[in-house]
Amino acid sequence: MAEGIVGEFFALKEATQADLLAMQMGDFYEFFGEDAEIVGETLDLKVSKRSSGGEQYSMAGVPIAELAPYLNALVERGFRVAVADQQPEGDGFVRRIDRVVTPGTLVDPTGASARYLATALQDGEEVGLAFLDVTTGEFQMAALTGPDAPEQALTELYRFTPTELLPGPALREDESFLRAVRDRIDPTITEFDVEAFAPGRARHTLREQFGEAIEEIQPAADPQTGEVAGRAAGAALDYLERTGVGVLASVTRLGAYDPETQVTMDATTQRNLELVETMTGGGQSVLETVDHTRTAAGARLLRAWLTRPLQRRGELDRRQRAIDALSAEALARDRVRELLGEAADLERIASKAVNETADAAVLVRCQETLALLPALVSALDTERLQQSPARALLTELDHERAAALAETLETALVEDPPATVREGGLLRPAYDAELAELIEQHEEAVGWLEGLAEREQEATGIGRLSVDRNTTDGYYIQISKRQTDDVPAHYEGIKTLKNAERYVTPALREREREILRLEEARNELEYELFTELRAQVAQAAALLQTIGRAVAELDTLCGLATHAVEQNWVRPTLSTDERLQIEAGRHPVVEQTVEFVPNDLSVATGAGDERRFLLVTGPNMSGKSTYMRQAALIVLLAQIGSFVPARAAVVGMVDGIYTRVGALDELAQGRSTFMVEMQELSNILHDATEDSLVILDEVGRGTATYDGISIAWAATEYLHNQVGAKTLFATHYHELTALAAELPRVQNVHVAAEEQGDSVTFLRSVVEGATDRSYGIHVAELAGVPDPVTMRASEVLERLRDEQAIEAKGSGDQGQPTRSVQAVFDLGGGGVEKREERSARPDPAVEAVLDELQGLDVAETRPVELLGQVEEWQRRLEEER
Ligand code: ADP
Repeated sequence: MAEGIVGEFFALKEATQADLLAMQMGDFYEFFGEDAEIVGETLDLKVSKRSSGGEQYSMAGVPIAELAPYLNALVERGFRVAVADQQPEGDGFVRRIDRVVTPGTLVDPTGASARYLATALQDGEEVGLAFLDVTTGEFQMAALTGPDAPEQALTELYRFTPTELLPGPALREDESFLRAVRDRIDPTITEFDVEAFAPGRARHTLREQFGEAIEEIQPAADPQTGEVAGRAAGAALDYLERTGVGVLASVTRLGAYDPETQVTMDATTQRNLELVETMTGGGQSVLETVDHTRTAAGARLLRAWLTRPLQRRGELDRRQRAIDALSAEALARDRVRELLGEAADLERIASKAVNETADAAVLVRCQETLALLPALVSALDTERLQQSPARALLTELDHERAAALAETLETALVEDPPATVREGGLLRPAYDAELAELIEQHEEAVGWLEGLAEREQEATGIGRLSVDRNTTDGYYIQISKRQTDDVPAHYEGIKTLKNAERYVTPALREREREILRLEEARNELEYELFTELRAQVAQAAALLQTIGRAVAELDTLCGLATHAVEQNWVRPTLSTDERLQIEAGRHPVVEQTVEFVPNDLSVATGAGDERRFLLVTGPNMSGKSTYMRQAALIVLLAQIGSFVPARAAVVGMVDGIYTRVGALDELAQGRSTFMVEMQELSNILHDATEDSLVILDEVGRGTATYDGISIAWAATEYLHNQVGAKTLFATHYHELTALAAELPRVQNVHVAAEEQGDSVTFLRSVVEGATDRSYGIHVAELAGVPDPVTMRASEVLERLRDEQAIEAKGSGDQGQPTRSVQAVFDLGGGGVEKREERSARPDPAVEAVLDELQGLDVAETRPVELLGQVEEWQRRLEEER
């Protein structure tokens, strides 16, 4: 049983839910036992042993002054760390946990990206969500309703990617919800007091924080379901208060957003489109490609826009008009971006001022940023920008208050203040009369000292006499040993050095005391004045947040305008009908690295146009995926208000973008691709509506050919007949192209390739109609599959084609190579016979090799596996001979 200090540690640890406890002991914070082991390993700290009650305990410590960076490092790795400070009581000390730093409540993280604390609460068919970024005070809530609410909640959670999630009473028991959250987002999951989610308690918390204003916010969420959102929001605030990080006052407002006004885009789609990260980790995401922002806040906002495209025309139109004007005004835009380059993160400054971690340098940056506002407004003073929403962002701000705060800060703070706030030197003397007085007296005393050496030399006739100061001796007079004989009687020796003696005099002693007193008084006064100043900034948190957000938005818009100009993007027409018409469209990321061949796309172009479902065929690697993703990205960019990579585009707004593409990363996670593929397909078939855009890149590939074709076939029929979504479907099953003849709204397009003798050139252009070739053998050649195999494959293919032709002739349907497979899907029993016929062909081993070769996705197979595979084919073909 641990005793003494170790016992106290374990008793405190017992009482907290935190993962780790840092307990103050004098000048150190100590961790004991398992905590010490974890901290030692995570932070590479030395772990020692301490015995207590006859047992050995591990122990690791960090000096007080270094706690903050160590805490941040632990919390950023997902740990919740309780801090027990030591406070004097009676003759001794007590230690109490008065704050817990958690991943969702970390005020000063290393990166500049948003960090959300999320709460999620389910009540029947309703789910309430709240997202709070304590580093900026951003606070939003939403309500979802219906049987799909938990699934939609996952989508919302993925959009915000919180670092910490507090699931409410029901959701914390919901294993499948929690598993999905861990798989897709992996936040720290904290089981917070269920009481905090109770309606009455949450309402009370919200009212405490926002006063009467809360009445206006609450109904903004769906009046029927607003309550769950409010409960989630209340719990988040409650938690923030309970952790004691002291940042509550920076949460100045709560927004209610309606997920219905956003474009549904599940986690898979966001990943497939490589919006904010690439699937492989290499290359560039869409965000990285279009991000030309100059401020951290602008970059945060751009990310938020990209992951939350909108269905609200008014807002999108406003953004478009701003980008339009900004892209037309190169000079003004450059000037604005130059100014933005000097702007600090006002939202974060507000949080730091509120929780009292802002130092003087932070306040100086606040002042400098506020002082940029007039210059920013005048940079936007051109004729075209005058009326633009870009300028309105700034003119709507409270410039008077901003200027007044900037002036106060400027009058108070020196230009380049020191990093510590307790040792003076922060403030201008003129800022405060008492301070000025102290500084004057101090200067006078120091002046007296400066003249002292000279005066004493004169009085004593000792030439080698100097006055200096150090920490152990304080101020002293130093005289070279050779001249110590002449030292006057009132000199009092204090130290003997090798070549010199040190003395003090009563007058020097007195001055020293005075200087120390003045310095202390000055430090104290400056600290006091500084904290008042910081409190003034904290009081202005809401103002700083508003300005910070406006500046961020200006930055985001300028960045998008810059990209549009540099890459020749155009303003898309946002249409209320369903049209999707893209002229010479490009893929925003791929166009950066290759000579891009632009392509047109048109679906659902109006009455009488039955074209809603495009079957995209073409050889492997020809550009099918790129073509489809570019369509999805153009729609998405249009629905964040951005310009798009095309010569012209009309985009009928969609309510959701759904994709399923080769699930590389899922494979890496060891989940069966076919299962994942089917889950994704199932989600799409359930969730998509006729206003959605669906992108399917190969369906049914993860299973046997006939299985695969059957599933793809049925999915196409369902999407076409039941869902009616605008769909692009790339497939290597040529058999499916026959669907165009059966289903009125299905049309074939293919990516053209040119075959010349033995070689094939990908033209990258998308043309009408179906292809009849997959060029799989050519791709195999390109990949370096040995000649004997590809030559043999060509022979086999030739033979199969001949047989198919004979078969087709037999059924009286000449020249329709897909016919025999199509027959399988006719309802009669004939299909079964046909299938048997096919599998009864001679040389099944060769056919199997060929099937595998054609089915092999060269792009997704590692070279080593490719080699192994080829060797195996060779062996099997050898056996066959
Ligand atoms: P598929 O889906 O048909 O296998 P991808 O879309 O993956 O083919 O394209 C393969 C490669 O071809 C891409 O990595 C890209 O570099 C290039 N590519 C695709 N489309 C184009 C295009 N329109 N212009 C130029 N290069 C393209």
